[in-house]
Amino acid sequence: YTGKSGTQLLTENLQKIRVRDYNSIPVLVKENVSVYDAICTMFLEDVGTLFVVDQNSLLVGVLSRKDLLRASIGKQELTALPINIIMTRMPNITMCEMDDNLIDVAKLLIDKQIDALPIVRPSENGYEVIGRITKTNITKAFVALGNG
Ligand code: ADP
Repeated sequence: YTGKSGTQLLTENLQKIRVRDYNSIPVLVKENVSVYDAICTMFLEDVGTLFVVDQNSLLVGVLSRKDLLRASIGKQELTALPINIIMTRMPNITMCEMDDNLIDVAKLLIDKQIDALPIVRPSENGYEVIGRITKTNITKAFVALGNG
């Protein structure tokens, strides 16, 4: 008998959970598409965050629902407005890797006040997007922990 309290066991189990255990498929858009097309993609793919990539499929930006709403309340023609003007761009992107602890990603979501992180694999010239972690994934992990 280890003499560990319930809280200690819960903490230990929580710290064992990795990003790879709860990742989702990322939805990517090319940086030269229009705000109009990005809005269509967000609806069709049913996600709240899009990751923007360059012609080499490397991460260059992030687009949230509010980024697209903000762009839509102006007088601009949305089919003529490229997303790379309104996206949050590198190097200001918070990201994570498959082996990171899920609890650390949850802390980042809170500290940075964002809904999602791209899961990346570093390559020679940048970062390849290989997954997505959102508040929904964290909620699933929370429920799984609660159910033992
Ligand atoms: P919303 O804007 O719809 O509330 P978020 O809270 O996720 O969604 O996004 C808030 C702002 O932070 C947006 O401008 C968005 O581009 C940016 N953002 C979202 N995710 C990230 C991220 N992983 N790294 C850096 N910036 C991000």
